Amino acid sequence: MSSGKKEAIAPLVLLVEDELAQRELLSYNIKSEGYRLEVAEDGDEALLLVAEEQPDLIILDWMLPNVSGIEVCRRLKVKDTTKHIPIIMLTARSEEADRVRGLETGADDYVVKPYSVSELMARVRNILRRVRPGSVGEILLYGDICLDAERHRVTREGKKLKLGPIEFRLLMTLIEKPGRVWDREQLLSRVWGRDADVDTRTVDVHVGRLRKALGKNGGKNPIRTVRGTGYSLDLED
Ligand code: CA
Repeated sequence: MSSGKKEAIAPLVLLVEDELAQRELLSYNIKSEGYRLEVAEDGDEALLLVAEEQPDLIILDWMLPNVSGIEVCRRLKVKDTTKHIPIIMLTARSEEADRVRGLETGADDYVVKPYSVSELMARVRNILRRVRPGSVGEILLYGDICLDAERHRVTREGKKLKLGPIEFRLLMTLIEKPGRVWDREQLLSRVWGRDADVDTRTVDVHVGRLRKALGKNGGKNPIRTVRGTGYSLDLED
């Protein structure tokens, strides 16, 4: 399939579940939604995958061998590089005290087994709409820039702009989190995909093209170069 590039920008969901049947059922549903998927069978594997892949959302079973789900959640929520990743906890426990404990650990949502898969997927969509709005077809606005992900259209001050596919994905990544500083590696993995055989200098080339396209009708350069690091969509200074 040649859809690799499209997939690179699809939200990445990490599923952490030790029970095979649950894992298969959820994997199927997550992929059906068009999301990318990584799967871990225990807490250690989950922590490794989070560090490597930076998922957009984690579905985390509470009862796991070795490192428990609650411990995984706690460790991720105290680390600056991972605390922003939303976590939905899955648990067989339904006691109110456990629920409170789960949320205190920083889980963003909490689903009690046996759950309805469609309800869980609705929760997943809700969270992704918040953290990856472009990837679920929302219209994104920043300053005078408007990106309509579903129609693949970008305008600035209402005037339509022509962007190549890479520039479009770059802008979509940047506009989802204005002000965030992305390093070149992060942009590479988000826009080209993790396995792409692309040099980080290529990022600079395409950022240059995106800048040019966005400045076609004048207006301030909205992409800030952060020396020694990378880029940020930033009209503030
Ligand atoms: Ca379990």
